Amino acid sequence: MRVTLLGTGAADGWPNPWCTCGSCTDSRRRGELRRPTSALVDGTLLLDLAPAPPPDGISLAGVRAVLVTHDHADHCAPLSLLARQWVRRAEPFTVAGPSPVLATLRPWLGPDDPVDLVAAEPGATLELAGYRIRPLAAAHEVPTVLYDVTGPDGARLLYATDTGPLPAGTVEAVRGAAYDVVLLEETFGDVTGHGTGHLDLRTFPDQVARLRTAGAVTGGTDVVAVHLGHHNPPAAVLAGRLARSGARLVADGATVEVRPGQAALRPGA
Ligand SMILES: [Zn+2]
Ligand SMILES: [Zn+2]
Ligand SMILES: [Zn+2]
Repeated sequence: MRVTLLGTGAADGWPNPWCTCGSCTDSRRRGELRRPTSALVDGTLLLDLAPAPPPDGISLAGVRAVLVTHDHADHCAPLSLLARQWVRRAEPFTVAGPSPVLATLRPWLGPDDPVDLVAAEPGATLELAGYRIRPLAAAHEVPTVLYDVTGPDGARLLYATDTGPLPAGTVEAVRGAAYDVVLLEETFGDVTGHGTGHLDLRTFPDQVARLRTAGAVTGGTDVVAVHLGHHNPPAAVLAGRLARSGARLVADGATVEVRPGQAALRPGA
């Protein structure tokens, strides 16, 4: 499984273009831009419809299915589907998401556009474009699902944004999963009093620990922090803080290659 990070930033991106804080200034000085969070799996499966185009050189032409987590503007941008419609692609195409996502996208589809809208509710199992997909409950302000994705090669990914501390039922649902890669949100950095359905540098390590205890994260799991906002310390500092949880940062446009079973082969840690 090849997971290309199209964006690793929070809704406003990092740097926030309107902000002059130290963290945004550091990103700007180093020429580092984190777009709203989205990822492309094997060039085939798109995770979230971000409002920003992909990084340089990355095409979406091979995408057959899109999994949208929730109806917030940084994850459910209908203009992205309209751009596809404008090039009149004839292949079957499926968009899955909670019902508010489907309601937002439906008016943007053309009458002859071959797009299927599929409800993604916790507890269901979907088979799309050769992937087995289990939507899981999140803790966010609007109906939101996280996605447990198993690829045709057997590699397994957890896409977990946007959410606060994971619902107990979700941790139970992923018990023993031994994910090869986990993309877990960490929006707020050192701002812990945000009172939102997001994680920060206090609650992120707790969620990784819970997933580890449940056997969903193992010593072989590649844990990547996403949905990163400017309340985080500059990237060099943040990388060290995340490393304490066994997690890491990657740049927008980077590809994470995982071998199926790489996590199951290295239990513990
Ligand atoms: Zn978001
Ligand atoms: Zn800032
Ligand atoms: Zn959101």
